[in-house]
Amino acid sequence: MTLEIAAKCSPNEKILSDIEKARISAAELYLSKDILRDPQSVSETCKKFNFKYAVHAPNDDFNPDALCFLVKEIGSGIVVFHDIFWEDEWKEIIEKFKGLRTKLCVENIAGVHDASKFVRRYGFGRCLDLEHVQFQLSGIFEEEVLDIIKQSSHIHLSGYVCGTGFVAYTYLSFEEAGDADVGLN
Ligand SMILES: [Zn+2]
Repeated sequence: MTLEIAAKCSPNEKILSDIEKARISAAELYLSKDILRDPQSVSETCKKFNFKYAVHAPNDDFNPDALCFLVKEIGSGIVVFHDIFWEDEWKEIIEKFKGLRTKLCVENIAGVHDASKFVRRYGFGRCLDLEHVQFQLSGIFEEEVLDIIKQSSHIHLSGYVCGTGFVAYTYLSFEEAGDADVGLN
């Protein structure tokens, strides 16, 4: 098993350049409906850097064409989704991503088992968000979580500030935010 540390950020050139200066070699891009309006320019920004990329699908839109285009262009090895789509939409996502060398993962939001049905039916990976686990369980109980960590394709080591600081924190540069993701292969 190999571990790779990635910084999570929006696909912003200044932020990506800060991450590069910090000598971190991977990045998870936080995407939104607004950001994915022009996937071509997002991919052009990302291609200025040599990062190994993962992407976080928008939580405010269903646009598998734009997402798939970006994933293909930047060679993202991981795509993280929240469980927010209808059954026919999941089928469309799977169809669009067929043949691409990228692992589709579902992230736990409300409960640590959120990804289980997708792992079983579609062969998706787990994205384990440890902060969400902490919210769910009011703490981290290592002995329970270790098994799930071993099953995970991607891990969020989030450290968001709750309340109004939430969004600002997500978009801060790595140097300021210290928010990191770990990918497990
Ligand atoms: Zn997420």
